[in-house]
Amino acid sequence: MDRFLIPQESAQNETRVAATPETVKKFIALGCSVFVERGAGVLSGFLDDSYIEVGAELVEIGDEKSWAECDVLLCVQQPSQELLSKLSAGALIVGLLAPYSNNKLAKSLKSEGLSALALELLPRISRAQASDALSSQANIGGYKAVLLAASALDRYFPMLMTAAGTVQPAKIIILGAGVAGLQAIATAKRLGAVVFVSDIRPAVKEQVESLGARFIEPPSVAEHPTESGGYAREVSEAFLLAQRQLLSDHLAEADVAICTAQVPGKKAPRLIDEEMLDRMRPGSVVIDLAVSQGGNCAKTKPLETVIRKGVKLIGASDLPCTVSNHASALYSRNLLALLNPIITNGEVILDTDDELINGSLISKDGVIRYPEVVSSGGEN
Ligand code: NAD
Repeated sequence: MDRFLIPQESAQNETRVAATPETVKKFIALGCSVFVERGAGVLSGFLDDSYIEVGAELVEIGDEKSWAECDVLLCVQQPSQELLSKLSAGALIVGLLAPYSNNKLAKSLKSEGLSALALELLPRISRAQASDALSSQANIGGYKAVLLAASALDRYFPMLMTAAGTVQPAKIIILGAGVAGLQAIATAKRLGAVVFVSDIRPAVKEQVESLGARFIEPPSVAEHPTESGGYAREVSEAFLLAQRQLLSDHLAEADVAICTAQVPGKKAPRLIDEEMLDRMRPGSVVIDLAVSQGGNCAKTKPLETVIRKGVKLIGASDLPCTVSNHASALYSRNLLALLNPIITNGEVILDTDDELINGSLISKDGVIRYPEVVSSGGEN
């Protein structure tokens, strides 16, 4: 019988938890035993008693014995190196492990002889949808970005006809129409804004228009295919230059820009430069969800609001943590969906013939399986 451990997350500002009482109950029904660190779910609205009620055992935070005896650690973000060193060789970590930008991860996995499933690397096939934590969290990011923009903006979002005259609807530009961008479109439309969208993947246009937004065609610069396996590929600097020229007039008239454009494992494309910011109206708002990857917009800083010539630049890298209850509920269901099919008699069997396991298993007992991915990033 595998012993699962649900830690209190140790990363700064992290409010989510990797298992809720709902999923703990299901893991126990599958024959696993589950240990939960005291207070692990409190910041996302799940009290210790609710875990005890479904059969989990509470342990103290960082308790040596619980970590040493843990077979499967379910986490949101990678625990600190100090905590990882408490695990025994052969233990499995499952979480959003930031494999592209985390040199220390490979070091800990190797030195402690750990196995690890990084959810960021799940192949995007239909069977993976229920386990897709990037999507469940990006969806929340897109929704919350619009709410944040609406409360930071000095104008209404909807068109209003009042006795004092008519107010025009806000104009919102959404850069990148992946999961976060599409949710941002839907949320901004519900609030009554007029929405324009830029993306480089041709497949996106129809999705954008079906949500009632207007698609800004990409520049007509010859480029290698902009898409591979459903993900965007990195475009050339010449393409980005043409794209910025195209976006500049739109931004000059915009009230809000929501930046969600990313290319997996690469620096985020720079889509708003300082000259473009100079043309934006004082009082307008930019929300940059790509800020941790270098940002789509110049001058944004993670977790900060910078006011530049009256334009509010909000570096929003933690939005799922601000909706911690639902973010945790969905994330923990993603983990259950991934592990459920590979648990037999309470034990997790890592079968690399399974496409999902093969794609996301970055380390097996300390042997790094994708060194080109896992050791490629900078220091954490
Ligand atoms: P992402 O977070 O990697 O990137 C966000 C968006 O930025 C993408 O739409 C990308 O095309 C866009 N982008 C990149 N460079 C840009 C630029 N220079 N200008 C403008 N936009 C730019 O994307 P994501 O949310 O992971 O979604 C990518 C695709 O994968 C979507 O089509 C989504 O529907 C699909 N998807 C499939 C599955 C599955 O089949 N299991 C699961 C989730 C998402």
